[in-house]
Amino acid sequence: MIRLEGVTKVYSVGDVEVHALRGVTLEVEQGEMVAVMGPSGSGKSTLMNVLGCLDVPTCGSYFLEDAEVGLLSDDRLADIRNRRIGFVFQSNNLLPRATALANVELPLLYGNDRDRRRRSLEALERVDLKDRASHRPNQLSGGQQQRVGIARALVKRPAILLADEPTGNLDSAHSLEIMEILQKGLSVIIVSHEADIAARTGRVISMLDGLVVSDQRPDSCHQLDSSHEPDSSHEDEAAP
Ligand code: ADP
Ligand code: MG
Repeated sequence: MIRLEGVTKVYSVGDVEVHALRGVTLEVEQGEMVAVMGPSGSGKSTLMNVLGCLDVPTCGSYFLEDAEVGLLSDDRLADIRNRRIGFVFQSNNLLPRATALANVELPLLYGNDRDRRRRSLEALERVDLKDRASHRPNQLSGGQQQRVGIARALVKRPAILLADEPTGNLDSAHSLEIMEILQKGLSVIIVSHEADIAARTGRVISMLDGLVVSDQRPDSCHQLDSSHEPDSSHEDEAAP
């Protein structure tokens, strides 16, 4: 679904070069939920921007659903970004004067009004806020605003949800609530400092200085699909 090969990202600021990513190779399967952890400045946001097609690698390749992103035309890239990728930001970027429903409808450029309304209400329902559809952001708590942001990301039914420290400004009860919402079905990549968030994902990637330094699946048995054959171990039992 997602494949990075030797991806580097160098930012040039004046005559200083910042090596934000120094060769990241990574695969993420459909439906996988991945936490990305690491100290500030280790390249987590840069990685998310590359994954979200908001930024292009300096070197290396990025394959998204079998298309090599670097080879796509701008139009095709914009189309993928709009239809396949959902973003949840730390500051939720809601329009302050628009209702929760209007905020969620925003990314739905296509379709008629009734259809947009129905899908947006459905998304609000998934984050448990259907009864707050007509509230404006300042009439909602921080956690509720964050959930509206999640509904807005889900309403396009993206294949991938990218969340860069989405729960950073929430208490941990809310964080877990949001994690449960996020966990339904699609591939989720979430940058988080919080250990209890990481504990709830199937996989934890740690970054340091622009590199992936560890990639762990703490409870891999739960995350693998059931097609894995339990039989293979029998072959070892032939010896007396
Ligand atoms: P993290 O999200 O892990 O805190 P970032 O990906 O934001 O790390 O940053 C990685 C490094 O790249 C940092 O040294 C940061 O200063 C630098 N960096 C990030 N974005 C830019 C940019 N647009 N221009 C120059 N340097 C940048
Ligand atoms: Mg960051």
